[in-house]
Amino acid sequence: MKTFCGRANPTTGSMEWLEEGEDYDYHQEIARSRYADMLHDKDRNVKYYQGIRAAVSRVKERGEKAIVLDIGTGTGLLSMMAASAGADFCYAIEVFKPMANAAVKIVEKNGFSDKIKVINKHSTEVTVGPDGDMECRANILVTELFDTELIGEGALPTYEHAHKYLVQEGCEAVPHRATVYVQLVESRRMWSWKKLFPVHIEAEDGEKILIPPSEMENCPGVPSVCDIQLNQMPSSDFSTLSDVVTMFSVDFSKPVQSASTYYRVQLEPVKSGKAQIVLSWWDIDMDPLGMINCTMAPYWVKPTSALQWRDHWMQCVYFLPREEPVLQGEKLYLTACRDEYSVWYNLQKAREGENKADEEEHKADVPVESPVCRCRAHLLWNRPRFGELNDQSRTHRYIKALRKVLKTDSVCLCISDGSLLPVLAHYLGAKQVQCMHLSRTDLYHPHELWQAFLKANNLEDKIKIIEARPELLKPSHLEDKKISVLVGEPFFTTSLLPWHNLYFWYARTAVSTHLANNATVLPQSASLHMMIVEFQDLWRIRSPCGICEGFDVRTMDDMIKDSLNFRESKEAEPHPLWEYPCKSLSDPQEVLTFDFTKTVPQHCLSTEGSVKLLRKGKSHGAVLWMEYHLAADISVSTGLMQVSNEKGNCEWNPHCKQAVYFFSSVIESEILSDPTAVTYTINFDTKTGEIAMDFKL
Ligand code: SAH
Repeated sequence: MKTFCGRANPTTGSMEWLEEGEDYDYHQEIARSRYADMLHDKDRNVKYYQGIRAAVSRVKERGEKAIVLDIGTGTGLLSMMAASAGADFCYAIEVFKPMANAAVKIVEKNGFSDKIKVINKHSTEVTVGPDGDMECRANILVTELFDTELIGEGALPTYEHAHKYLVQEGCEAVPHRATVYVQLVESRRMWSWKKLFPVHIEAEDGEKILIPPSEMENCPGVPSVCDIQLNQMPSSDFSTLSDVVTMFSVDFSKPVQSASTYYRVQLEPVKSGKAQIVLSWWDIDMDPLGMINCTMAPYWVKPTSALQWRDHWMQCVYFLPREEPVLQGEKLYLTACRDEYSVWYNLQKAREGENKADEEEHKADVPVESPVCRCRAHLLWNRPRFGELNDQSRTHRYIKALRKVLKTDSVCLCISDGSLLPVLAHYLGAKQVQCMHLSRTDLYHPHELWQAFLKANNLEDKIKIIEARPELLKPSHLEDKKISVLVGEPFFTTSLLPWHNLYFWYARTAVSTHLANNATVLPQSASLHMMIVEFQDLWRIRSPCGICEGFDVRTMDDMIKDSLNFRESKEAEPHPLWEYPCKSLSDPQEVLTFDFTKTVPQHCLSTEGSVKLLRKGKSHGAVLWMEYHLAADISVSTGLMQVSNEKGNCEWNPHCKQAVYFFSSVIESEILSDPTAVTYTINFDTKTGEIAMDFKL
């Protein structure tokens, strides 16, 4: 079997697919997996254990043997819980080979080999019968196949199949049921992730307003779930328009249907406002009576109960197809449509004097098709990018910087993906403006989107789109002129880590011969910054678990550690830190600079040094980010915005992911009179565009 691993090349901006051989052992997947996070999720584990014990007892009370089917066993944890609760036998199914192998070892180490059979198959391939994988159907069904959207990992088809072929009728299920909750809200912040707001530009000849094309206004967007740590969203950033409403439930102890369907509830807004967003989360009852409940409810819903931090289950943000003004007390219908793997929402107003019969009629116009982006912007820009483009204070910095460098005779080329800079440059008086949007996968159609955008603003003949890659730029593209101002944000859709946007530097290098002698490059430079931090919670996702609910899972810890140390796996990973609170333990430090006025050098850029730990705390890792120096005294940071108080709490750019390098061991800094120092070496390989780093504590 061949495995292909996709990765963007930061020196060309293109996706490349590397073929891995037979022996590809999924180090990257294991190193970045959520297993550690699940094992640290105490609330989840305790409740599963309670639910499993209760289910085993109910079966035993009926005088039956307890035969367990654990679909997606992972480390084998839930099967071991069942075995210790007295189950007679467990079939532990796991499709992911490295995990199935780990489960065998963990089960053996904990002394359950005679009670648990690990089967490395997808559950739909499992056979039942005297020669089958399972001797007989199970009477207890245990699974943990849920994602933040509940059904995104295929729980429904898996349950549907299991009820048909693998479990007895009337079986016990842990969890017994899942319920999805919703709340209607208005939020300019979250709405700015879905649509482009008009951009105001103070030009020489008055204010100009840039408007999005009409297709964008009414575009339903993309069906992919927007899952976030809603607990990090301050209540001042949204306003709730409805109470929390139960949208739908799934009873896992009965046959489950995965076919597309919809659910509809009636709502009465508790406040008038603009309905834009449906916030959603779920809970699971581990038992039929609902005494053992595990909930993802955000902070404002259950303010008294202690919140369990977890990253494998968060909350969902759904964007309504269009903004709908609603009045307090008016009658609304909210519809959740779903297919096998995803959910989307629709809001309708009840018609005047509507009764039950009309309601039936209403069902006819319920859309069953999942949202498909028609305007193409949602294929080009992801949600944080929409947020970034809607960030007026950021736009103003670019305007200020452009004003400094543009002249009436400027010939301007912009290289960035789907950037508004060319339009800003035009309004600010550049004579000739051209832009390159580097469409680098089959999915994106930036030129067509851009045409529509220019058309909506009557700029078709003002800004020229060059459909060539930088290295293929010809003088004719530029009407035989030299570029006097080269601009970029820089932003490229394929960038994963902050420094991947240095592709701008490579593109700038490729177009060098087209630059005028005294050409300006904006940004003029970039710098890489670093800070040592203590995470409030994020450390859990990469930290060993040891013993979980009495079971030794160190085999899993070792496996993750091996994978982290394997080849290039030991590298920084992207995380949007506004969702993951941390405090700074060191001062932020500039570690490398990249001079865009010059071409990319042949040699590597390296640095080494040390950072002092100035605050008491646990050093979990280093955070790295880029800052772009647009023009003298005007910079934008894609990372730290500020350290907000004495305690060192950090505020991060809400639109960008930062790079996190987790230390393999944690040091506790205590003595501040003689601060501990962390030494580092950082190397930017100009051939690959990647940054390698090492830290010594
Ligand atoms: N049960 C473990 C792990 C849960 S993660 C625990 O609770 O800690 C879910 C696991 O299910 C993953 O390892 C995934 O590979 C596996 N999986 C998902 N769907 C499956 C299916 N239909 N058949 C077999 N394994 C599946």
